[in-house]
Amino acid sequence: RPLLLWFRQDLRLADNPALRAAVESGQPILPVYILDDETPGAWAIGGAARWWLHHSLTALSHDLKALGAPLILRRGDSREVIDSLVREAGATAVYWNRCYEPFARKRDEAIKATLKQDGIEARSFNSALLHEPWTVENKSGEPFRVYSAFWRACLAKGKPDKPLPAPETLVAASAPASDSIGDWKLLPTKPNWAKRFESAWTPGENGAQERLTGFLDEAVNRYKAERDRPDIEATSRLSPHLHFGEIGPRQIWHATRAAMAAHDLNEASAEKFLSEVGWREFSHHLLYHNDALPEHPLRPEFADFPWHENDKALTAWQRGLTGYPIVDAGMRELWATGWMHNRVRMIVASFLVKDLLIPWQEGEAWFWDTLVDADLANNAASWQWVAGCGADAAPYFRIFNPVLQGEKFDPEGAYVRRWVPELAKMPASHIHKPWLAPDDVMRQAGVTLGKSYPNPIVDHGTARDRALDAFSRIKKAA
Ligand code: FAD
Repeated sequence: RPLLLWFRQDLRLADNPALRAAVESGQPILPVYILDDETPGAWAIGGAARWWLHHSLTALSHDLKALGAPLILRRGDSREVIDSLVREAGATAVYWNRCYEPFARKRDEAIKATLKQDGIEARSFNSALLHEPWTVENKSGEPFRVYSAFWRACLAKGKPDKPLPAPETLVAASAPASDSIGDWKLLPTKPNWAKRFESAWTPGENGAQERLTGFLDEAVNRYKAERDRPDIEATSRLSPHLHFGEIGPRQIWHATRAAMAAHDLNEASAEKFLSEVGWREFSHHLLYHNDALPEHPLRPEFADFPWHENDKALTAWQRGLTGYPIVDAGMRELWATGWMHNRVRMIVASFLVKDLLIPWQEGEAWFWDTLVDADLANNAASWQWVAGCGADAAPYFRIFNPVLQGEKFDPEGAYVRRWVPELAKMPASHIHKPWLAPDDVMRQAGVTLGKSYPNPIVDHGTARDRALDAFSRIKKAA
């Protein structure tokens, strides 16, 4: 009798413990993916991530077919779909790898309970994290709220388990009907806003492995020194692959350590890279222990923060038309490629929350829809971090100056020139503050503020004072 192998955010064959256990069971395997837009509520997969999902499922389907087990696609409420698939196939077991979103955990618990009641074996595994969130705790047995202590505790646990190899063969069950992926309409049509995604990404397990190998061959040595430079490709760009589980952190950990042993890698740089993977672990830890993380500030005093709803400013931010070149470059990179450099994510987020006083949840929602790596834990924890209302957050009074940030991290202006072509001819001296450029510089660059490129939508100095004032008001109230 068949075993249902339920793929979710683990779209790979290697280091997939649920798949490994399914193979070891000796039962015929029925692999399935369910597109469930009902259970997640507001957090159904966003637009850019749907593009990724289409291609990732296509790649997984192809790899499973090569093993003789086609991937069954179904759409609907996961509880109902699992129930009907178990009946249709006469399955005696359902295996999956765990997800950590509050809605997913609730759903999975309910499914497990029902299956067990019906005498069906239900087993779940860890494919997504180095350490399960409930296994990392401080000396008093509490979850961590500070990243550095959390990561030290993770490191003290020793090496994570060695990644499992992909199975070479498996016994396939006879396949029930499957949706066709085209019917799910995950790709945009008119307009096709994802045109530039194609050249930027190769979704799927092979694409993930290539990305990791390429990074470990070269850029990892520059990572520590250059990871904050959006004009240089010095980070791994593994985030969407990690989100969809095309690669897991154990694989990254062991491959990085192996590369460190085999080549003359810059050790501090490689460790820095692994510590960023640690931030991902920490975000999952926070989400696991705080169900409300995506919606509510972890610091209760922020519940009464005097935000300004401002649709016009929000739209200018979303479209990359704020008049601050580094902010606009980031927002346009996001729209064009579904990804944005981490430093620039921090700058644009700070600008939205502090210069515009727009609630961080608006930015979180926009990122959710436009990032190919949109991830509930990382996105929510990072927005709370920037807004100053998270567990281990940047203090609210530390307000990024978008001009100084641009000058420091994009010193030649190459990043801005790439994404804001209106400013392509601006000299480095003024590219991050065109409103201060002398008339002849503007003329030579062919830029007319208010016409070819916007005037700043707020004055940063004034906005900064306003934000500090708002903050002092909640501090007094607390
Ligand atoms: P690298 O620097 O190569 O790091 C390797 C991996 O470590 C990443 O792929 C990622 O999985 C993890 N990582 C790195 N930095 C962080 C971080 N600060 N927090 C958590 N994990 C991290 N990341 C997402 O994956 N999804 C999101 O939805 C997301 N939203 C964000 C929103 C804001 C406002 C900010 C400031 C950051 C957000 N991040 C998010 C974190 C970070 O920007 C991205 O993970 C990183 O830019 C991905 O690029 P990379 O793969 O080249 O990272």
